[in-house]
Amino acid sequence: MSKPNIALLYTGGTIGMKEDVQSKRLVPLDFDHLHAQIPELEKLEVEISFYQLWEPIDSSDIQPKHWQILADKIAELYDAYDGFVILHGTDTMAYTASALSFMLQNLSKPVILTGSQLPIGVLRTDGKENIISAIEIAAAKINGKARVPEVCIYFEYKLIRGNRAVKLSTEHFDAFKSPNYPALAEAGVDITYQDHYIDNSRFGNLNCLRGISPRVGVIKLFPGFQSEIIDEYLRLDLYDALILEAFGTGNIGAKEELLGALERWCRSGKLLINATQCVYGSTYMDKYASSANLSKIGALESKDMTFEAILCKLMISLGNSENIEEARNKFTGNWAGEQK
Ligand code: ASP
Repeated sequence: MSKPNIALLYTGGTIGMKEDVQSKRLVPLDFDHLHAQIPELEKLEVEISFYQLWEPIDSSDIQPKHWQILADKIAELYDAYDGFVILHGTDTMAYTASALSFMLQNLSKPVILTGSQLPIGVLRTDGKENIISAIEIAAAKINGKARVPEVCIYFEYKLIRGNRAVKLSTEHFDAFKSPNYPALAEAGVDITYQDHYIDNSRFGNLNCLRGISPRVGVIKLFPGFQSEIIDEYLRLDLYDALILEAFGTGNIGAKEELLGALERWCRSGKLLINATQCVYGSTYMDKYASSANLSKIGALESKDMTFEAILCKLMISLGNSENIEEARNKFTGNWAGEQK
C-alpha cells in the first residue's frame, strides 16, 4: 500500500525562529533552517512535500490576504494530497484556522495547524512533537476515508476544532483551549480519537470561497464606556458590521445613550453582533432586561462562538454577499461546527 501523502505549508511563527545574535530577539527563518532541525520527519511512514508560501513571518503580521493564499493553495493541491499541515505562529493561529474553516467549503480532508511556544532549535522545544503528531493526524484514515476531515489545531497533545480554538496562554505549552466544544483527539501513548465529535458529514467538490471584507469593527464595553464612538463610526462609514463585546450573556446595561446609538447603527442598515467577553458559555440575548432591547433593534446573537470565529465568519459573510441582508442570513447559519 502506498504511503499517505501530506503537504506541509510553512508560514512562519516561533517554531521556525532563531535568536538574532545582535538584537537577541527571535526572528523568523526560512524553511531549510526548520527542516534541518527535524530529521525525524524522514522516519515517518508518510510522504511529505514542503511549501513555503511567503517569506516566513511572525503571525501577528497575518492578514486576510494570507488566508486567501493559504486557501487557494490548499484548493490547488487538494486532489494530490491526503491531508495538509500548516506551520503557523500561535498568536493568530486561531484566526487563520477559523477563516480557513469557513473558506474551504465541503472540506473532506484534514487541514491541521500547529506551531510551538519554543523554537524548533531549542532543546526543550514543544515543536517536534507538535509537528510529528499533526502529520500523523493529517494522514490518519478510517474505512479508507480521512479520520479528521476538518480544519483543526493540534497543540500540546490535543486536537481541537480550529474555529473553536482560542489562545489562552503566552507561556504554557498547553496554549490553546476549546472552551465550548470537546477535544477531537488526544495524544498519549496512542492518539485517541473522539469520532463522535468529529464532523465527517461533508463531501462533494471543495469550494474555496474568495472575498474577505475588512469592513468589520469591534467595540468592547467597559464601565465608563462613551457611546459617542458608535455614532462616530457611523459617520466615518468605515464598517458594515460591528461586533459588540458585551458583558456576561450579552448584557449592555440600561444606559439609554448606548441603546440609542446602537439603534441608529442598526437602522442605518448595518449589522450588529452581540458577543460576550466571557471565554466559556454563550450569549442569551433575551435572558436579562439589559440585553433584551438588543434583539428588538435587530442585533444578531453570536451564541457560543469564539471571538476569532465571529470576526472571520463576519468578514467572509460580507465578502461573499451582494448586500447586508444576504450577509446577515449567511452569518446566522452554522457553517463548520463553529456554534451550537
Ligand atoms: N509571535 C509568534 C507568532 O505568532 C508566537 C508564536 O509563534 O508562538 O508568530
